[in-house]
Amino acid sequence: MKRRKFIKTAGIASAGSALAATGLATPAIAKDRVEIAMVATWPRDFPGLGTGAQRMAKRIADMSDGRIQIEYFAAGERVGAFDSFDEVASGNAQAYHAADYYWKGKHPGWAYFTSVPFGLTYTEMNAWIRFGGGQQLWDELAGSFGIKAVMAGSTGVQMGGWFNKEINSADDLKGLKMRIPGLGGDVMAKLGASPVSLPGGQIYENLVSGAIDATEWVGPWNDGFMKFYEAAKYYYFPGMHEPGSMLSFGMNASFWSKLSKNDQTILESAASMENDVMMSEYNAKNGAALASLIKDQGVQLREFNDEIYDSFGTAANEVFEEVRAHSPLANKIHESFIKSRSEVGAWANIADVAYLRQRNRVLGL
Ligand code: CA
Repeated sequence: MKRRKFIKTAGIASAGSALAATGLATPAIAKDRVEIAMVATWPRDFPGLGTGAQRMAKRIADMSDGRIQIEYFAAGERVGAFDSFDEVASGNAQAYHAADYYWKGKHPGWAYFTSVPFGLTYTEMNAWIRFGGGQQLWDELAGSFGIKAVMAGSTGVQMGGWFNKEINSADDLKGLKMRIPGLGGDVMAKLGASPVSLPGGQIYENLVSGAIDATEWVGPWNDGFMKFYEAAKYYYFPGMHEPGSMLSFGMNASFWSKLSKNDQTILESAASMENDVMMSEYNAKNGAALASLIKDQGVQLREFNDEIYDSFGTAANEVFEEVRAHSPLANKIHESFIKSRSEVGAWANIADVAYLRQRNRVLGL
């Protein structure tokens, strides 16, 4: 053992001497410049989603002292928002910042890696992805499309959406044309609504023109910026469809596999930090934004009642059965997600939920 260690150490010393002798201080590969074209599904400078993606790109350049350069393209600047996936899977661009549920038409498993109805909150999602087998399943799904994706932001619990009438039962959803992507849209379809998936930058014009009757987007900070209140006054909570939407930094898998461990760690760490920073920003700004919407814009805040939530639950179960029947991988993702939801959710009930209920009751919050 000792001898082997000696040989190894001696080997390093001799290699070091050789490098010193030839003047090569460090292996050339560690100095390789890396260029990344990064497309996104968000409008440029859009608060939270867009600024978060742009902040992450800058962080990557900073962390590598400028060695890794990212040229960032907001939605429509290089390809349309929903073409981001093909742009990266094909290798035309190296990376995207997006919500992976936009790709559910390619495989329903993608929905789980943003958010699904009755899904996971931010803290629960982090637990599943990092310690519940979520990342491994994400790798398996994404890998089959030539993508490697990591966590890169979260909006937290989203609002239920904007309606131009009160929604008191599932009957009130019938015939409603609503912008709501992901499996949440499928739940709405089960209840008789017509879901459409539109990128953020196209929602306002469709709502104002009457092409859609209702929309969900994110939460008070983002929705107020979009001025949806000009066309719909009833603002419902909580959204069953996106309880903790995780954003994703998706990279071309072949590009990713050729990077050094050092560069992979920089990219992953910068994205993971954005996952945290973006959530902090939403939590910091949503409360004041909601108060302003109510006070300054006359927005009518409404809570979905138990009856409609029960209808959402029944419809969601039907949607999940269809997802499970899609393929063995879809079923495997669903079962892993359900297991984490049961374990982490039960703990949250004892910890976060119970504590917040008592704290806010005592303080009158
Ligand atoms: Ca949304």
